[in-house]
Amino acid sequence: MSQQLIEQIDAILPQTQCGKCGFPGCRLYAEAIAEGRADINQCPPGDQEGIQKLAELLGVPPKPLNTSHGFPRVGKVVAWIDERICIGCTFCVQSCPVDAIVGAAKQMHIVIAAECTGCELCIAPCPMDCISLIPIDEEVNDSSNLPVDATKKQAADRARARYQFRQQRLERDKQINRESLKHKNTAQPEIAGAAAEARKKTVVQAAIKRAMAIRTQAIETNSPIKPHELS
Ligand code: SF4
Ligand code: SF4
Ligand code: SF4
Repeated sequence: MSQQLIEQIDAILPQTQCGKCGFPGCRLYAEAIAEGRADINQCPPGDQEGIQKLAELLGVPPKPLNTSHGFPRVGKVVAWIDERICIGCTFCVQSCPVDAIVGAAKQMHIVIAAECTGCELCIAPCPMDCISLIPIDEEVNDSSNLPVDATKKQAADRARARYQFRQQRLERDKQINRESLKHKNTAQPEIAGAAAEARKKTVVQAAIKRAMAIRTQAIETNSPIKPHELS
């Protein structure tokens, strides 16, 4: 698999990171195209323009968008959270592929509109149904005075970087969890062993105390100790 080809394909993809192509992120779709495991017409956000660019890059004829993967959206949208209803469950944060939602547990959450790709992935997990997509005017939103294509590329590059950063963070968290689980698993037998040892010690001490009491009583009453009394 040529890394250069994957980079070139990935550079064409819009970086919405929505998963509509059937892959969890643009990069994995790029890899699948490069390996011949996926067709070039599976990305609704990229639409016909993206398919055309992929066809040119790969030297294959363009084809219509495969709408079983969804339909392209007209204009840019971003997610918006109704803060009056949000219960702060954090489900939306966990599902956002570019970390565009901020908020802590049990507190209201908000979307950083400038980072939102409009992927819709936060909508379904919200138990309060308080996230909606609202249209934004790309040109009004853009204060850089760059051509729309240039700002689209900037936004895609930014979304790619945020997606990669998130993936690295998730991988690091997984690694930490694996390590702590490993530590727990090795620590648990030690804890269990120590508890068993302490229990044994207590039983022995109780038995000694009981034997001493029986012995003292036997001496005081001058009566013989019966073996079953010591057990
Ligand atoms: S934008 Fe969505 S559908 Fe297009 S390649 Fe990226 S993840 Fe797949
Ligand atoms: S806020 Fe929602 S729509 Fe926007 S990028 Fe995150 S998950 Fe996607
Ligand atoms: S999923 Fe919905 S209710 Fe939960 S924190 Fe996000 S917006 Fe609020």
